[in-house]
Amino acid sequence: MEENGAVRRTDDGTAAVTSVDETLRARASRVVPGGMYGHLNAAELPRVFPQFYVSGEGCRILDVDGNEYIDFMCSWGPIVLGHNHPAVEAAVAAETLRGVCLNGPGEVLVELAELLTAEVTHAEWAMFGKNGTDATNMGLRIARAATGHSKVLIARRAYHGIGTWSLPPGSDGVTEADRADTIYFEYNDLDSLDAAIAEAGDDIAAVIVTPIRHEVHRDLDLATPEFAAGVRSRCDATGAQLMIDDIRCGFRMDLAGSWEGLGIRPDLTAYSKALANGHPLAALVGSEHLREAAGRITATGSFWFAAPPMAAAIATIQTLKAEDGIARMAASGLKFQQGLRDQAKSHGFEVSVTGPPQLPFMSFAADASEEKAFAWTSECAARGVYLHPFHNWFLNAAHDEPAIDDALARTDAAFAALRTGFGSD
Ligand code: PMP
Repeated sequence: MEENGAVRRTDDGTAAVTSVDETLRARASRVVPGGMYGHLNAAELPRVFPQFYVSGEGCRILDVDGNEYIDFMCSWGPIVLGHNHPAVEAAVAAETLRGVCLNGPGEVLVELAELLTAEVTHAEWAMFGKNGTDATNMGLRIARAATGHSKVLIARRAYHGIGTWSLPPGSDGVTEADRADTIYFEYNDLDSLDAAIAEAGDDIAAVIVTPIRHEVHRDLDLATPEFAAGVRSRCDATGAQLMIDDIRCGFRMDLAGSWEGLGIRPDLTAYSKALANGHPLAALVGSEHLREAAGRITATGSFWFAAPPMAAAIATIQTLKAEDGIARMAASGLKFQQGLRDQAKSHGFEVSVTGPPQLPFMSFAADASEEKAFAWTSECAARGVYLHPFHNWFLNAAHDEPAIDDALARTDAAFAALRTGFGSD
């Protein structure tokens, strides 16, 4: 079998045209477990979704076969200003020229911590890592160090990274002991939170909650004001530390904090994804009373203090503010959401479009097997619009009106194709 071109020879010696993506998948399958792994593994998506990419610009990405997509996944969140953003890349390039990994951080660590504590209302200090898991792990450890307690309460099916305490029951390679201090409640359900608190007894360290309910394979729910207030008051009553896992919504909903609009402030907030527009950086910010405990935990990593991603984060936050990025994403997302509702109706499909407009999602009614979701998102991908069948989508600040109009013209054609295959609802 030839591996370096667009031609694959089958076992009987005939030539078959193959894509660069297929060729790379075949090579990867020999040297990477499963050929790919993790949340960007395209194996769980129909074949029309590529696995390998070469570039991105604004709200568009290019796969290894030269197909362009209007990108509504934004690398599953990190790209908040647009791919290859000039201000961010210039800041990274300047910092990189000075050195990528020195014996200590650059001035940018202090500047970024000052910026985050100025922007995020409850934050009085900031610590950094590389991935969201670093931030959620650090946050839990600080809560335990501060309270002297062990138990952590999280919503069932919520994702908080790959810390073993937060992985679902039955996860391969995770022991019951790893998860022994984790207790579950249902999102937006204070009775179930009360039951979890009762189970924790006097050993409760933290309640960790995402600002919206955004688990996979289901519509998105905003937190109800009663739930947010109820979580806060129960933490106050029990001494549990409230950490908002803002890794997916942070810097898309509200720079001051994603529950700020509900008037609720946590004790800790975890960020990664959009913090540095795609550059590897996570942050944990916290309230004053946790400063001392935060200084006591073991928290470090070989690459955690590299300056270029911190320069990227400063440029990202400053640009988001200067260009009113969150409001622009919200306006474009609203137009996209309404456009999809109108199109679905005109093609005779019953859909539910949910989520904040910056992180929208659409599902089909009576589609438990997700057959329609897979078929429609495949039709979209074939027409150059990258959406996901069962994970929430993301907008970035480069999704301007012409891009949304362009995307909607293609999604309309995808609905028409779906009707041919499935008929209307
Ligand atoms: N929490 C939430 C809510 C997330 O969405 C993610 C990433 N999908 C994480 C934690 C983990 O972040 P990272 O992938 O940067 O480790």
